[in-house]
Amino acid sequence: MDAAGTLIVGAGLAGSALAMHLAEMGARDVVVADPDLAGARSSSQLNAGGVRATWWRPVNVELCAATIDELARHRERVALRQRGYLWLHGPERWAEAREHVALQNRFGRDVELLTPAEVGRRWPFIDRLDDLAGATFSPHDGLVDPNAVRELYRERARAAGVLFLDRLLLTAVRTEDGRVTGASLTTVDAEGADAALRGGAPEGAVTEVACGRLVNAAGPWASRVADLIGVPVPCRAVPRQICVVGTRDVDLSHDGMIVDASDVYLHHEADGMFLAGYSPPGDPPAYSFDYEGRAFFEREIWPRLAHRVSAFDRLEHLRGWTGLYELSPDNSALLGAVPGREGAFEIHSFSGRGVMQSWAAGLALAELMETGAHRTFPSAAALSGARFDGGELQPEELHI
Ligand SMILES: Cc1cc2nc3c(=O)[nH]c(=O)nc-3n(C[C@H](O)[C@H](O)[C@H](O)COP(=O)(O)OP(=O)(O)OC[C@H]3O[C@@H](n4cnc5c(N)ncnc54)[C@H](O)[C@@H]3O)c2cc1C
Repeated sequence: MDAAGTLIVGAGLAGSALAMHLAEMGARDVVVADPDLAGARSSSQLNAGGVRATWWRPVNVELCAATIDELARHRERVALRQRGYLWLHGPERWAEAREHVALQNRFGRDVELLTPAEVGRRWPFIDRLDDLAGATFSPHDGLVDPNAVRELYRERARAAGVLFLDRLLLTAVRTEDGRVTGASLTTVDAEGADAALRGGAPEGAVTEVACGRLVNAAGPWASRVADLIGVPVPCRAVPRQICVVGTRDVDLSHDGMIVDASDVYLHHEADGMFLAGYSPPGDPPAYSFDYEGRAFFEREIWPRLAHRVSAFDRLEHLRGWTGLYELSPDNSALLGAVPGREGAFEIHSFSGRGVMQSWAAGLALAELMETGAHRTFPSAAALSGARFDGGELQPEELHI
């Protein structure tokens, strides 16, 4: 392959959704390149699978709500379980949480406000309620199988003519007069891909590809790809750990996501097992996948869970993993044309929202690329990366 109409860099949920929408809108010669199509280090493979539309900025509520509604049309295939998000709040955050419910409900989310006593009645295992001020319950939110979502996008993209190329890493971008004209793709084996995604320098044969359009969909590696494009972005990759926990006392199989006031989140995983995560504030950026194991569980997860649920005094740490969050300065994604570089586009830094926004974000960028305007979601204009150069920021809560 020596030429592409559109070269998408990164085949995670963002790159795959964009490729699907572009091809279904009639774009030809769409090519997606990734050093590891299986995505072993990609965030699309290592996340918690939560989908919710209870955000604070209209654009984030709208893109999430539209994606959840679309995934509901493929409910069985993507294992969508709309069992809700129960979010517990202490007094310090309760007023702020309540304030945004009207916005969320304007998008048809039917979010309920609950007293601590109501929480105790409806979720009897949550029995340590003293320090709570209230809770929200958003019934249309829930859990999904992110791999199945990505495969759905890829299948439709391939059926519409998209070519997915494995074991290729973007290592240079060519420009002429400020316009993207081509890219260098370095061939890597499995080991080389892993080393490169951990920050190493790749070695391998280089293929030069001419392209009219290039899209940065490289998730946590987007700032590296942006450097190659020549327009740096202020985004960073931060490791986040998730534990798989055993319990014989509490059955969470009828619940969706539960978020504690302490910012620990948990949801049912399999019989006698749940998944629990916590994001320590201030953790430094790194391309690291090291998992601390039992030490992380005992320091960050267990004390917070046991503080809320007496049956969680008895829990067993089973295993876990680390994936990378891709954070922007205001915790909202970058989506649009790359400022000052004709032919370059970006869709990345979802800040923990990349599963739940994937379908709508891909559509928003595809429409911009094909028609020159945001048509279905005019609000997506707010996510242009140009906002970090004096525009209106889209600050978003990020407690998990
Ligand atoms: C622990 C954890 C929990 C999360 N929980 C949730 C959740 O519950 N709900 C939710 O919506 N989101 C969640 N997220 C966030 C979500 O996973 C991401 O926002 C989403 O997967 C981002 O998708 P992406 O396609 O942008 O990036 P990725 O899936 O990371 O894909 C980027 C791809 O780019 C490729 N790449 C990198 N460099 C290059 C290069 N130079 N050339 C070519 N390809 C390259 C990589 O190999 C990778 O496959 C979570 C994330 C983590 C880490």
